[in-house]
Amino acid sequence: MNSPSISTEENTLANSDPRPHTLDLRGQRGLIIGIANDHSIAWGCARSMRALGAELAVTYLNEKAKAWVQPLAGQLQASLLLPCDVRQPGQLDAVFETIRNHWGRLDFALHAVAYAPKKDLQAPLLDTSASGFSMAMDVSCHSFVRMARLAAPLMEHGGTLLATSYYGAEKVIGHYNLMGPVKAALEAVVRQLAVELGPQHIRVHALSPGPVRTRAASGIAAFDELLDQAARRSPEHTLVSIEEVGAVAAGLVSDLARGMTGNVVFVDAGYHIMG
Ligand code: NAD
Repeated sequence: MNSPSISTEENTLANSDPRPHTLDLRGQRGLIIGIANDHSIAWGCARSMRALGAELAVTYLNEKAKAWVQPLAGQLQASLLLPCDVRQPGQLDAVFETIRNHWGRLDFALHAVAYAPKKDLQAPLLDTSASGFSMAMDVSCHSFVRMARLAAPLMEHGGTLLATSYYGAEKVIGHYNLMGPVKAALEAVVRQLAVELGPQHIRVHALSPGPVRTRAASGIAAFDELLDQAARRSPEHTLVSIEEVGAVAAGLVSDLARGMTGNVVFVDAGYHIMG
């Protein structure tokens, strides 16, 4: 059988842009914040990025979490494994100081972090305490701003920052409660940072995965209903896996996505298009 041949014209087109046309993260260095265990969305992302050749720095929340994260960091052959509780003054700064000393630069950073006190997360928004609301906002949203501020000086030749949102930012989703407004703020932050960091060629996106059974998700009441509904109503009638989210994240930090910034990128088997 004859193999299809590429005409000279097609070859010329492919060669007219000298930048990479294949998904390849070799030579890129990235920070991953948000691995708790092997169900974490951040783990799916880190694994895809590593498989494509990226060198990674990984953080863990505290000593208890370290026991789970350390073996995963080993599988990723992570160059750095560092503590990072974004509520502990100085810890995020220390992560970036270590990256500066070790690598001298950074190409991408993933923020896959969220928290709200259970009492506030499971209450109607009307009953949310001021302290619970501001803690959720600080950990799940403003820490992304702090991460961007620290990352930008290390991205002299540009880079990518990824946050992790959810459809509840846009539509009211049962039991998502205060996290809806928090994720809405996060998506607005992504757009604002995309504009502020655009001149430095730093691209900023929010990934918006469909529901995934993770530790953070277990705090949301009736999460099984969300999973059922997503599987029933999405065009593909399926749930997304952390591998599928990771593949998109890896694409976004690659040079192939250089034409995009400020997006909310749904990885939800199409659920968000349903009326
Ligand atoms: P997860 O529990 O695996 O990850 C949440 C991470 O947040 C953990 O690693 C935890 O250590 C970290 N974290 C919490 N408080 C922190 C703090 N003070 N400092 C540093 N890290 C802290 O759950 P996940 O579902 O993978 O969550 C990752 C992100 O994905 C979150 O932003 C979540 O809102 C978002 N998301 C989840 C789903 C889902 O259905 N699971 C869907 C869309 C978006």
